[in-house]
Parts: sequence; C-alpha cells; structure tokens
Amino acid sequence: MLTIKKQFIDGKWLFSESNEVRTIINPYNQEVIAEVTESDRIDTKAAIKAARNAFNHGEWPNMTATERGRIVHIIADLIERDKEELAELESLDTGKTLEESRWDMDDIAGVFRYYAEIADKDGGKIIDSPIPNTISKVVKEPIGVCGLITPWNYPLLQASWKLAPALVAGNTFIMKPSEITPLTSIKIFELIEEAGVPAGVANLVLGKGNTVGAELSESMDVDLISFTGGVETGKHIMQAASVNVKKIALELGGKNPNIIFADADFEIAVDQALNGVFFHAGQICSAGTRLLVEESIHDEFVDALVARVKKIKLGNGFDESTQMGPLISAEHLNKVSEYVENGIKEGATVAVGGKRPEDPDLQNGFFYLPTIFTNCTTDMDVVQDEAFGPVITIEKFTTEEEAIQLANDSIYGLSGGVWTNDIVKAERCVAKMRMGTVWINDFNSYFPHAPWGGFKQSGIGRELGELGLDEYTETKHIMHNLKPESMNWF
Ligand code: NAD
Repeated sequence: MLTIKKQFIDGKWLFSESNEVRTIINPYNQEVIAEVTESDRIDTKAAIKAARNAFNHGEWPNMTATERGRIVHIIADLIERDKEELAELESLDTGKTLEESRWDMDDIAGVFRYYAEIADKDGGKIIDSPIPNTISKVVKEPIGVCGLITPWNYPLLQASWKLAPALVAGNTFIMKPSEITPLTSIKIFELIEEAGVPAGVANLVLGKGNTVGAELSESMDVDLISFTGGVETGKHIMQAASVNVKKIALELGGKNPNIIFADADFEIAVDQALNGVFFHAGQICSAGTRLLVEESIHDEFVDALVARVKKIKLGNGFDESTQMGPLISAEHLNKVSEYVENGIKEGATVAVGGKRPEDPDLQNGFFYLPTIFTNCTTDMDVVQDEAFGPVITIEKFTTEEEAIQLANDSIYGLSGGVWTNDIVKAERCVAKMRMGTVWINDFNSYFPHAPWGGFKQSGIGRELGELGLDEYTETKHIMHNLKPESMNWF
C-alpha cells in the first residue's frame, strides 16, 4: 500500500480538495511507483493566496539577500545529502539511467549553490544624474508571486533553474511540475521546508496543465509565469498571461542543428553526435537531432554512426549496463512512432532503428530504437518538427554558406553546434547561427554561470546565469532630490 503524496500549501502538506488521486508509473515496466493527490483550480487558488500573503506581509522579500543566500546554500547541502534518493526517484519516474540522474543531481546542487553565492552580489548602482543635487540609484526588487511550470524530461533540473533564482531574489511562488513526473519535485519541497524557508513562500500543486497550469497563467494575482515545455503550450500561456500583463519567461522546444565539417576530428565528432542526441532517449530540448554533414565525409560518417547506434543497449535505467532507457509514456511513444512513420512516407530513409525493439524483456516499457534517417531535405516535417525522441535526421551540404542556411531554416533557435578544426571558419559560422547557445567542437554542455534560452519560437527570456536571476526581479529607479526648490509655474 503506497502512501499518497500531498501538495504543499502555506507550509502544510495537504490532500487536494477533490481528494482525487493520480497514479504514477515507471515507464520501464508500467509498475505503479507512487500515488499523488490531484490538485485542481481550488487548490491552486489557495496556493496563490498563500503566496500573495507571504509576499505582501511575510518576512522573505524583506530579508537580506545574504540571509536568503544562506538558506539556499542549505538547500544545496540537503540535495547533496539526499543525492542518491533523489537520483533513484528521478530514474524511477522518468526511466533515465541512474548514472544520468546522478549527474542531474550534481548539476541541481550546483544551480542552488551558484544562485546562493550571487544572491547578495548585486546591490544596485548609482547612476550619473544630469539634474544637480540629486542622487539616482537603480535597484532590483523581487517581482512578486511567481508561477513555475515544469516539464517531464528533466523534472528536477528544470525546476531548479526556476526555484533557486526565484528564492534568492525574494519572491514567493507556486510550482506545478509535470503531472507525470512529480516525485523529485515533491521531495525538493520537503528539503525547502527543512532548510527553513518560511511558510507560504514555496507552494507546490500537483495537477494537470489545463487546470492547475491554466489557473496560474490566468490568475490576476500571479505576477510572473516561468514555463518550460512545448511551443503550443507556451502560446496558450502567453495568451492567458495577457489578462494582467504578467511577465512571462518561456523555455520552449528546439530542433537543433549540429554541423559536421570534413576537417573535424572524425572520431570525436561521431562520438559527440551520438551523445548530443541519445542521452535520456533523445528527450532533450537541446538535442542535436538535425545533423548536417559535409558531403565529402557524409557516407563514411553515416556508416560510423550506424555501426555505433546498433550497439546501444536499451534497458532498465537501474541496470549499470543500460545506455538508454524508455520514452516517458505510451502517448509519447505513439507520437514518436507516428513521427517516424511520417518521415518514411515523406521519403527519408531509415538507416537504423525506425521501430520498437523486439527484445521480449522490453515489451512492458515504452521503448523505441535509436533511429537515424538519411536522405533528408529541409522541407520535410521530420527535419522541421521536434520529435523529442531518439531520432536523428541527416542532411548533406557542400559549402559553409549552405550549412548555415540549412541550420537557420527552422522556427526554433535553441542551440546548435559546429565541428571543425578551422577556428576562423568556426567563429564565422557561430556568428551567423540564430540560436541562444552555440557550441564549437562540443554539444550540449551547459553550466549555471552561462545563460540558457532560445531565439525565435524556442522561447522568451533566459534561465541560468545572472540573466536567469534578472527574470525574477523588477528594476526600480530611485531619484532623491537633496535640494528641492519651487518652480512657481502653476
Ligand atoms: P508540455 O508543454 O506538454 O507541458 C509542460 C508543462 O506545462 C507541464 O507541467 C504541463 O502540465 C503544463 N501545461 C500543459 N498545458 C498547460 C496549459 N494550458 N497551461 C499551463 N500549463 C500547461 O511539455 P512537455 O511535454 O512536458 O515537455 C516537452 C517539451 O518541453 C518539449 O517541447 C521540450 O523541447 C520542452 N523543453 C524545453 C526546455 C528548454 O530549456 N527550452 C527544457 C526542457 C523541455
């Protein structure tokens, strides 16, 4: 018998008003791993009220930034203490390998540490005033009540990019994790409580997008929505947020080009082209799923990739020999299968994969074989649409200009990569690539100090780095006249 996990509102762990319960399953074998209370609009309204009260009347926004940073450091300590438990929960919930979840937990502790450390480093600045006998200063203040909405692919990592800056900036908030992967989010709220964050500052509601998420986006009492998820959901949120001209920060999808020039280090480029996509079964917003390969090495490159892909071991994320786990859900498996079927109909060639595995041990999980499509052209849906699964499309190019033109031919602009040993060519390329993050001879590396976000339909705003903290602040100009005088105009 599982204990039903609760929502966290105003410092109390509560069942939802409806008493509805959701079961959470392991995507590796569909076993029920948890039961959680199902929040809805009534619970969300209560959470918003608690956050509003804590912002308007509580101590958190007025505490020194140093003190908030100290508490956020404690959260990082607690994440490190409970790293193994958190990693196991994440792997159970998402199917990703335990090793990947352990990396995630190290990254997450790092995100809390980074923001704890910069919490009190920006005390505002004095600006030159052209008006005599005045002092002008510009300061940053918390924005208010924030709604934080997260996806299922990196449940706690994406949450940490929002929770840590929202806390150190002095906001109060309501977080809504994806309804299919809430387990590590519930655990982090236990740690936030243990670290001593006052009641009402951090609230957690556990429910669907069209109830809890919509209530947050539509509320007149929420000042900011920070959302990570799909483009269509992001557009809904933009519309809903207009009700009170809420600030929005959107981290949306990607279809990320990875350009391989013939003068790149061949073996490393092959290896990193695979790493750039197949971790977490390709369910990564920045996955380098659009491979652009220079014609002179195309066939050799494809052969090398295919040989390696055939050896990728699918299985239980808790088995040390597993390299790739399942997709997140039956619904998502159908989506990826349809995407591949469509690619075949469009004329792309399946070089490897293109179906579910036949291994009897994998039939209870949502597995899909790592897949490579060749003979792709930029007008195909498989090249333009985000699969959010283990699928690479390969296009050929002959000139640098063509490579850049293909790379930029997308509604997305999240990330991209260039592989070459010609450093001048590399710099020329990245200067023209319309993406929020570009890598030269690397792919998918990121760290808390550097901003993350997208051009075009990949989003609005930035997470991580100092810009990621700015999203959670308002800027105020304070002008002090030291020698007021009458004008005698009226
Ligand atoms: P999704 O848009 O379906 O859901 C994301 C979250 O939004 C979930 O919590 C969901 O319940 C909620 N939601 C759904 N409808 C809503 C509504 N009407 N109002 C408010 N909230 C609503 O996305 P997903 O399937 O969970 O995640 C996959 C997507 O996330 C992919 O497109 C991926 O590229 C993107 N993603 C982007 C980044 C990034 O950094 N740019 C990172 C991770 C994932």
